[in-house]
Amino acid sequence: MSGPSRPGRGADAGDTDPERTGSPASRHVATRLAGIGRRLAFTSVPGLSGSVVNPPVWRASTHLYDDTAALRAGTKDNADGQFFYGRRGGPTQWSLAEALSALEPGAAGTVLFPSGVAAIAGALMASVRPGERLLITDNAYDPSRRMGLGLLARFGVQPVFFDPLDLEGFRELCAMGAGAVLLESPGSLTMEICDVTTLAGIARAAGAMVLLDNTWAGPTGFQALAHGCDGAILALTKHVGGHSDLMMGSVTANKRLYPALRTTAQALGQVVSPDDAALALRGLRTLDLRLRQQAATALVIARWLRGRDEVAAVLCPMLDSAPGHDLWQRDFSGGCGLFSFVLKGQDDAARARLIDALTLFGIGYSWGGYESLVLPVDPGRDRSVRPWPPAGLDAGDRFAIRLSIGLEHADDLIADLAQAFATMRAA
Ligand SMILES: *Cc1c(COP(=O)(O)O)cnc(C)c1O
Repeated sequence: MSGPSRPGRGADAGDTDPERTGSPASRHVATRLAGIGRRLAFTSVPGLSGSVVNPPVWRASTHLYDDTAALRAGTKDNADGQFFYGRRGGPTQWSLAEALSALEPGAAGTVLFPSGVAAIAGALMASVRPGERLLITDNAYDPSRRMGLGLLARFGVQPVFFDPLDLEGFRELCAMGAGAVLLESPGSLTMEICDVTTLAGIARAAGAMVLLDNTWAGPTGFQALAHGCDGAILALTKHVGGHSDLMMGSVTANKRLYPALRTTAQALGQVVSPDDAALALRGLRTLDLRLRQQAATALVIARWLRGRDEVAAVLCPMLDSAPGHDLWQRDFSGGCGLFSFVLKGQDDAARARLIDALTLFGIGYSWGGYESLVLPVDPGRDRSVRPWPPAGLDAGDRFAIRLSIGLEHADDLIADLAQAFATMRAA
């Protein structure tokens, strides 16, 4: 039955033993990324010996039953990894979900969504009810903020924004009651790291469901459930896809959240295509390698920017001067290529000159791909509680730029930034 712990060799249909499915948690993440999501049942054909490396793309709407009795039995339980109907996915999607769960200790399961925003919506709708308060970190991704103020408010949820660095203020808010809390660390655009463990502990003691948008670090850089969260949200579009050719999201949840998450996603009809799931699985194989390289290059560039006269602040949690860097060192096992910096006393036109002069950075939304991107960002528009510009900066130091560092060489990216700064100053 079960052979050696070789990926895809020893695992039987229905086998969840991580040793036989190629992913014992004791191994390094680089090793585990090569083995997870490759169950023999998903990579082989009954009656044929051997198997293929990757779970094939199973395109299917209809799943066929052997007979009426099997059809009736099939409607009774609603579990992952069983044929039912295409809307519940098939082996390709199950492999990806299983791989993501394997990376998150404490996971009861993972639900896939057609985008990161859909994953945030699914997680929130599974966690909060009409009349309840939803506490949203003030540095949340802008569509998350708008979801609280718009969609969820229309369904009777009360959104409340909080400063993630003010633990006492958060304790008071939770004492007033909260159905769910949405955290993000580092925060979008301004990149502050918060104390997820302490915030999650306070929120759970108050009975709230705790969600974390973990897109920046991902499961290889920060283990959300082990730090007290009930659900870890990822925009797979970013690092897991990694090649700017895929839209997808996921929520990996513990036992407390998973049943509601699953039924909510099913009620909303959320499903991802098997082709996209196969692409995401392919991206996952090189995730650790790409993130380590992109984080290393980003740190070189962040340090270089810190030494420039045109720069008032570099907002990068991996830098020792950044807010929450001590927490980053305490809690995180990796970073990535995404950070921001603030121009010293420049105007919007100067910022546009700088960005337009760059030749190696694409101008566009999203991040986490193999190619570098640049974006003008104005955090002040998306903040209700935390001030912008932050303490320590002059009122004129407010035009910010976000960089997503790809796999290009640091020397070339720095040379490109240097000539763009010269162009900005020349005007
Ligand atoms: C991009 C992003 C998302 C949304 O992902 P999409 O796949 O683009 O919908 C969610 N959270 C964060 C922090 C993001 O940067």
